[in-house]
Amino acid sequence: MNDLYETLDPVLAAPITDERPWAAFAACRERDPDLFFPVTADGEREAIRICRGCPVQLDCLEFALETKVRFGIWGGATEKERRTLQRHIA
Ligand code: SF4
Repeated sequence: MNDLYETLDPVLAAPITDERPWAAFAACRERDPDLFFPVTADGEREAIRICRGCPVQLDCLEFALETKVRFGIWGGATEKERRTLQRHIA
């Protein structure tokens, strides 16, 4: 994972690669990438709401945890939530 992926999107603008074939089914593919880098609590809730309806939420969360993505909402989890999960699985 490079910084370019982190700054572009959770899934949207990054190319679909062999590494993330599930991204083809992502609920965020047609959404504004900025939605997944919210700056308000309302924005955070909206991104999480979309993730909860996403058919590949668990794949996305697993990917974010494995690659230690730092920024944005991934797999329905905030940055803080992913850090907490990381501590529990480390
Ligand atoms: S869980 Fe959220 S960020 Fe991940 S692919 Fe689905 S909609 Fe996109």
